[in-house]
Amino acid sequence: MIEMKNLYMTYPNGVVALNGINVTIEQGEFVYIVGPSGAGKSTFTKMLFREALPTEGSVFVNNKDIRKLKWKEVPYFRRNIGVVYQDFRLLPKLSVYENIAFALEVIEETPKNIRNRVMSVLDQVGLKNKARFIPDELSGGEQQRVAIARAMVNRPGLLIADEPTGNLDPETSWEIMAILEEINASGTTILMATHSKEIVNTVKKRVIAMEDGMIVRDEHRGEYGYEA
Ligand code: ADP
Ligand code: ADP
Repeated sequence: MIEMKNLYMTYPNGVVALNGINVTIEQGEFVYIVGPSGAGKSTFTKMLFREALPTEGSVFVNNKDIRKLKWKEVPYFRRNIGVVYQDFRLLPKLSVYENIAFALEVIEETPKNIRNRVMSVLDQVGLKNKARFIPDELSGGEQQRVAIARAMVNRPGLLIADEPTGNLDPETSWEIMAILEEINASGTTILMATHSKEIVNTVKKRVIAMEDGMIVRDEHRGEYGYEA
């Protein structure tokens, strides 16, 4: 579902963030992306939902060439990709329910269907009883679960998680991992950039290690391999 070929990305200030990436990721895989700060992990994920464009080379997601997407097609393309961040990025003045409903693409959906969809993803992350809360009233782990629900409400084939446990304590991090594994088990591809050696070495998955904009290691059921 993801293919990068001879991919280079240089930021306008001249920083080479991706320096010759070649990789294929199949539908349904769970992949960790590890590497020191500045290695290019975030830029790698940005390529996938066209938050940034490559300088050279190609990126295919679901057989679509990112560079050939027309401006009009981008929102439609992004509907099939969910993204969660370390800092949750919820809208602070909206309730949990509204944060998720807001992200739902409402194409001729009846209010009843919208409600069912939102409550169903909230149920998936165990937060049905907090639909009326605002983000500030929730713990960090709960806020991340809301962010995951929001990312999943359009039933995307790919979920990108950029250090999803970076702001969470270990116990809460394991809860988030359990939810991500469940989502993966139902067929969604997951790409998770992480600094958590403990998670990577415990929940064994494919590990892509980056350094200086390059993939330096790519192992099935790999190890973290860096000093914490
Ligand atoms: P990581 O996620 O592994 O920390 P990034 O992809 O964020 O790495 O960054 C890769 C390199 O690109 C770093 O040198 C970083 O400073 C640089 N970089 C990231 N974002 C930008 C930006 N918007 N403009 C210029 N340079 C950037
Ligand atoms: P943590 O122990 O992870 O820091 P909190 O103490 O922030 O978690 O929250 C514990 C529980 O209390 C959570 O379920 C959260 O939803 C609830 N809670 C926290 N703050 C409020 C608030 N202002 N109003 C209502 N419920 C709250």
